[in-house]
Amino acid sequence: MMVPAAVELGVEIRVLAENEGMSAAIAATAVGDYTDLATVRDFARDVDVLTFDHEHVPQAVLRALVAEGVQVHPGPDALQYAQDKLRMRERLASLGIPMPDWARIETAEELDAFIADHGGHAVVKTARGGYDGKGVRVVTSAAQAEEWFLALDEDGRGGALLAEELVDFRRELAQLVARRPSGDITLWPVVESVQKDGVCAEVIAPAPSAAGREAEMAARIGTTIAEELGVTGVLAVELFETTDERILVNELAMRPHNTGHWTIDGSTTSQFEQHLRAVLDLPFGATGHRDPWSVMVNILGGPTVRTLDEATALAMADQPTAKLHLYGKEPRPGRKVGHITTGGDDLDEVVFQARAAAAFFQD
Ligand code: ADP
Repeated sequence: MMVPAAVELGVEIRVLAENEGMSAAIAATAVGDYTDLATVRDFARDVDVLTFDHEHVPQAVLRALVAEGVQVHPGPDALQYAQDKLRMRERLASLGIPMPDWARIETAEELDAFIADHGGHAVVKTARGGYDGKGVRVVTSAAQAEEWFLALDEDGRGGALLAEELVDFRRELAQLVARRPSGDITLWPVVESVQKDGVCAEVIAPAPSAAGREAEMAARIGTTIAEELGVTGVLAVELFETTDERILVNELAMRPHNTGHWTIDGSTTSQFEQHLRAVLDLPFGATGHRDPWSVMVNILGGPTVRTLDEATALAMADQPTAKLHLYGKEPRPGRKVGHITTGGDDLDEVVFQARAAAAFFQD
């Protein structure tokens, strides 16, 4: 999704795709293993700036490239906090950022003690490698996370688990920020994200009735994190709004993020364009929203998946103003294969249209 933005900016872009079957392979100029230093070094040989659309390129690879003079944005010093949830918690705690109560857990005894102190349950997370709710589990006893303890010493898993209080949240918000190496910062309005089974299902932009205090707190938190961690590119800060009106940080993503997909159709400057401007240290575009409301609904593979051409024809015939984005991914149950964005001035209507169009793709 960065490619159309690059074309519009007149920026030459190269893409290293993991393998031929990936959706990035549509735009790939190279296919190879992003965990292999020689592969990434070879790819980076004649580019001005290296950036990513996920956070899994190993620290060792990034640090070696930086040492060789490659411009990497976001840099490994910032990216480590999006790669490791325990490091993120430790760092944000040192900045006084509001967060759920949390602890570093190395043994089952420590987890059982944390559970006992937090009302009989806890949210346990693997520090690294989780996404879309994989690596997140609500437990009432350490035994329910037994295999995660056993895997702790395996390569790349980190030496400990993260335990958090189970937050009684009213809703989830996300603050999207972009920062240039020269320090310029820009923010989109805070959005509401609705999760189902740990996966983002819908995003409403801006978050309903968040014009005042919540928006201000989200913006302040997003700005502080981007500056203090030295983030370059797009940063998404996932937030909980609690029933007692606090805003707590859930997690960070340092790349264009699902909660910002609405910006492609709903904002003057999309997150993908802004990310490119940021990593190239070019002046930012405006981040205002075009319609009073934008709604993004993810298209997930269902138990059975309609053929995309059949569903596309139905969705577009019935909801002609809905904007469709498909990723060219093989549909599998639960996999994000595309999204729909709608916009307008009646929120209920905009939500209805987006859901109706997305529903044609699912059973
Ligand atoms: P991932 O890295 O897989 O996206 P997250 O840490 O964002 O994992 O958690 C996924 C979802 O699980 C969140 O969006 C939220 O709905 C729920 N969740 C995570 N942490 C907590 C918590 N401490 N309390 C309550 N719900 C949580």
